[in-house]
Amino acid sequence: MAKLTQTNWDVIIVGGGPAGFFAGIRCAELNPKLSVLIIEKAQQTLGKVLISGGGRCNVTHACFDPAQLISFYPRGGAALRGAFTRFHPADTIQWFEKHGVKLKTESDGRMFPITDSSRTVADCLREGAKKLGVVVLTGMSLQKVESLSENSFRLEVQSEARVLHLQANKLLLATGSDPKTREIVKSLGHSIEEPVPSLFTFNIADKRLEGLAGVSIENVTLKMDGLIQRGPLLITHWGLSGPAVLKLSAWGARVLFDKKYHAALIVNWLGDTTFDKALDVLQRHKAWHENARKKVLTEPAFTQLPARLWKQLANFIGEKNWADISKTELRKLAEELTACQFEIKGKGQFKEEFVTCGGVKLSEVDFKTMQSRVVKNLFFAGEVLDIDGVTGGFNFQSSWTTGWLAGSALSSTDTERMNR
Ligand SMILES: Cc1cc2nc3c(=O)[nH]c(=O)nc-3n(C[C@H](O)[C@H](O)[C@H](O)COP(=O)(O)OP(=O)(O)OC[C@H]3O[C@@H](n4cnc5c(N)ncnc54)[C@H](O)[C@@H]3O)c2cc1C
Repeated sequence: MAKLTQTNWDVIIVGGGPAGFFAGIRCAELNPKLSVLIIEKAQQTLGKVLISGGGRCNVTHACFDPAQLISFYPRGGAALRGAFTRFHPADTIQWFEKHGVKLKTESDGRMFPITDSSRTVADCLREGAKKLGVVVLTGMSLQKVESLSENSFRLEVQSEARVLHLQANKLLLATGSDPKTREIVKSLGHSIEEPVPSLFTFNIADKRLEGLAGVSIENVTLKMDGLIQRGPLLITHWGLSGPAVLKLSAWGARVLFDKKYHAALIVNWLGDTTFDKALDVLQRHKAWHENARKKVLTEPAFTQLPARLWKQLANFIGEKNWADISKTELRKLAEELTACQFEIKGKGQFKEEFVTCGGVKLSEVDFKTMQSRVVKNLFFAGEVLDIDGVTGGFNFQSSWTTGWLAGSALSSTDTERMNR
């Protein structure tokens, strides 16, 4: 923990995560004369960066059109539209390259440091801040903020051993999804959209999935409560995961929370193939004379499906040959393939990425500067806001963008004018 003798700061940033660091670096780069302090309650900064992307840090996504980019944010897309025209993934790539970290793109568009190590990203941010004279205080937690009449702030921060009182001309809250800080935000007059988890897997106990853990399907369609998502699916020991499920969990985060993670899920294992089309394929497969004496279970009609999955879906037919199955059984099989019903009975954790939806109400923040519309000289960036993206690097991107915008505004001696 740095020893702190200074109590008055031009800028205090609470939260030593990606948004806080990005803002601190941007601010110090633009205005080196300002004194900038980052306060982090954990013993080390950038904890989530270090564990992100399975230890590889999925920094951003190779999507360079702001209009398309916002479609990956179940909450916050509209507010980010303008922000992304100022700083988007191409700027992130350039920023990291300029600061010594080269990124690479994987086939699905996710971008990682070429080292495949999240430490590279954390080291870059820490060293960047240090070089610019940004002071980082770890092991100190913000307890209280008081907005003073001259538009500055008095902060009470605390470690196990001591309490400090600090004063800041400008304050950035980049505290992620920390529940305690949300109370502080409320005490300053802001509203909070209630937080609920996003990006999780579905717990499903169903005989048809037994023995299939590890099986993946390239393209399925999922339906739940009026929501539809497409993409790859992975069967796990506990139920279903993979990009299609994670996207559905993000878009359905609030609905699923309200339903206590109990909901009906419909899986089309054949992507967009309709019931009628599937039935037609099955009928022709049955009619084909070479198949007549072959068992349904071992002679799949859809070769794009893993053989083990086919066997489970067709299991109700038993040991019958194709020639012996009834019209009703064919219809039921078409239904199992295109509208397979499951009961979600809880949520699991997706270890590579996890975010909370909810946070500071977006209409109370000016997205040109990230300044509060409620309290002058107060700023927000990152996950503390009611913004969350689907998996793939979009969550860090919103932290880089909002952090960069906040840092730009924090560096200015007249942010208020910028706000108009
Ligand atoms: C396991 C995991 C993996 C992930 N992987 C990815 C990925 O690969 N790609 C991606 O795009 N997203 C990923 N995410 C999401 C991403 O980590 C977050 O969206 C991002 O970290 C948010 O950045 P932030 O700076 O807003 O908040 P945080 O990273 O949460 O940082 C906020 C900081 O503020 C500190 N703080 C909170 N309250 C106080 C207080 N009162 N006083 C002092 N300090 C305080 C916290 O300790 C924390 O260090 C992952 C998340 C998890 C959990």
